[in-house]
Amino acid sequence: MRLIFLGAPGAGKGTLASTIGKEIGLPQLSTGDLFRDAVKNGTELGLRVKGIMEKGELVPDELTVALVRERLGRADTAQGYILDGFPRTIPQAEALASFQRIDGVVNFQCGDEVVVRRLSGRRICRSCGAIYHVENMPPRREGICDRCGGELYIRDDDRIDSIRNRLRVYQAQTEPLIGYYRGRGLLHDIDAEQTVEKSLAQLRKVLKKLRKAG
Ligand code: ADP
Ligand code: ZN
Repeated sequence: MRLIFLGAPGAGKGTLASTIGKEIGLPQLSTGDLFRDAVKNGTELGLRVKGIMEKGELVPDELTVALVRERLGRADTAQGYILDGFPRTIPQAEALASFQRIDGVVNFQCGDEVVVRRLSGRRICRSCGAIYHVENMPPRREGICDRCGGELYIRDDDRIDSIRNRLRVYQAQTEPLIGYYRGRGLLHDIDAEQTVEKSLAQLRKVLKKLRKAG
């Protein structure tokens, strides 16, 4: 099954994609993670995107599409995948449609206030990438990953001015994709303001329906 997870930053796409991906055996492909890895490893791509990401702007479409196209060419995506954070613009969606047939798009609905609260409390493990929240999903020991003992950090773009910019960018560039995919009969809405467990339950129902249809 080839899936797209769509939603504002902080809506919980990443957390849910990781959980459900393991459950149904599909790789989660996060363009944000791929770009962050490139920055961490100091590659040419990393050097190009670092400043863009810190400000909460979007990486140019050609670069992003090339990265995804390369990634989707690898063997582990043969049975399908979950795209998390891509496409984020109409031109990206059109480029994707030119070389992949998508089975469904899940739209994680979440209001601005909830988004700001979630992102400003988000903490990430430097070693394994696990995601925590100081209030909603605190680690057992402050600043330390439950899973691997790694150090938790705040993403550069989870600072308040970056958060506001990311929301503006989302509304201007990514939100039009909701209409784009709804018009193609591919869109499924999930209430992402609920607890992770409730959103997961709703997500499982959507996937079951998709599996039957496919
Ligand atoms: P979030 O969804 O929490 O904003 P991501 O981890 O998905 O964060 O993305 C972080 C940053 O990586 C974005 O703000 C943007 O700079 C860049 N990025 C990720 N995916 C894309 C994309 N599809 N197109 C352009 N830029 C992207
Ligand atoms: Zn960890």
